[in-house]
Amino acid sequence: MPEGPGAAAVQGRCPTLERMSECTLTDEDFMRLALAEARAAGRAGEVPVGAVVVKDGRVIATGRNAPIDGFDPTAHAEIKALRAAAQALGNYRLDGCTLYVTLEPCAMCSGAMLHARLARVVFGASDPKTGAAGSVLDLFGLAQLNHQTVVQGGVLASAAADLLRGFFKERRVNPHPLREDALRTPDERFADLPGYAWQPRYLSDLPALDGWRMHYLDEGASAEGTAQPGLTWLCLHGNPAWSYLYRKMIPVLLAGGGRVVAPDLIGFGRSDKPKKDAAHTFAWHRQVLLEFIERLDLNNVVLVVQDWGGLLGLTLPMEAPGRYRGLLVMNTTVATGETPLSPGFLAWRTMCAQNPEFDVARLFARGNPQLSAAECAAYNAPFPDRGHRAALRAFPALVPEHRGDDGADVSRRARAFWSSDWRGQSLMAIGQLDPVLGEPVMRELHASIRGCPEPMLLPQAGHFVQEHGEAVAEAAVRHFTP
Ligand SMILES: [Zn+2]
Repeated sequence: MPEGPGAAAVQGRCPTLERMSECTLTDEDFMRLALAEARAAGRAGEVPVGAVVVKDGRVIATGRNAPIDGFDPTAHAEIKALRAAAQALGNYRLDGCTLYVTLEPCAMCSGAMLHARLARVVFGASDPKTGAAGSVLDLFGLAQLNHQTVVQGGVLASAAADLLRGFFKERRVNPHPLREDALRTPDERFADLPGYAWQPRYLSDLPALDGWRMHYLDEGASAEGTAQPGLTWLCLHGNPAWSYLYRKMIPVLLAGGGRVVAPDLIGFGRSDKPKKDAAHTFAWHRQVLLEFIERLDLNNVVLVVQDWGGLLGLTLPMEAPGRYRGLLVMNTTVATGETPLSPGFLAWRTMCAQNPEFDVARLFARGNPQLSAAECAAYNAPFPDRGHRAALRAFPALVPEHRGDDGADVSRRARAFWSSDWRGQSLMAIGQLDPVLGEPVMRELHASIRGCPEPMLLPQAGHFVQEHGEAVAEAAVRHFTP
């Protein structure tokens, strides 16, 4: 029998498990075990349906609904319980068995029960949408099928129905439940931030997100549906910033008639924060971005990148070049693992390792004396305590340093793409005061971007070029608008 609450409940209910046939357990008792399986499915984020298979008064198998977790459209509670029962008996025929399930079985499960020659099926709530035991159709009532399974419905029906109702209500009220291994920065910390009044939007159901809630901005005319599709500016931030970094550029890009999409990487901004540093990998963040772009079906994209926005973002267009029209690249790099990381970057990595609690607001204040105290504080907003800072600890060490590192190979492919295959327009803006990814690093990158004109130089700007972004955005609108 598979381990599960059902098994434990049987043992708790009847201490003489081996002699269960002498216990007088009723249909309702067994349905309670199926309900325990259903609740376990619901806790795992699956539609709460549970089943148990009983032979000679003994539970021989349990099953709970799990199609999401198993990437398996057939992983209904009944199928899982039938499989486990057949394994337990060493026989695909379940003669003399009764299956208890909290919800009326569908056609697939009913068919499987008939194939298994199940003696009896007992269900809880009826399912007016897909029930195949009388609600939509009655597979068990077809006299032409040569095996007959006895059907009984309505056992603890209201308990099963309440469970389903509660589950779907919770989904509507809280469409992005927090994973157990995640933290979520309280909304209050993002209230009234200077220059950042856009509506928060969230996604958590991309396959790579697996429930992690990702925040993004999506402002301006949608590229869809208009005769003359405008540009979509896809703005990617780096470490330790978030979409707040683009607040000076966004109004200029919107005024130019475009749409602006700016996600917060998982671990940053208003996106969920993994508790564990090890949750962060180059490949995972890249995959999330690829799926994000597909889900929003972004086209006519000008990719806007800086720092990690570029380390990750510059590896994206080669996977779907038709979606991209332009590249606006600010202080960043492509880390192929072939050339040593710059001394400035190594110093930054050492600083992060030695001062894991460094003050993000002070970092911004140092490099950007023009910022107000409130603007600097906005960069601390995502990180109320050490627990929320896993990304800040993890990211510096994730920059591919050696040929075999996570992300190095894909970065080499990306470099080849930019130097040989890129057909879009490009614009580079360099913050010259950046000690980490400044002009020497950017000149190298410039040489590997096909058709990139002479860079725009910003002598007052440091690493966070976007803090001088109005002029960059104005130049970009002129450069990329057809
Ligand atoms: Zn089913």
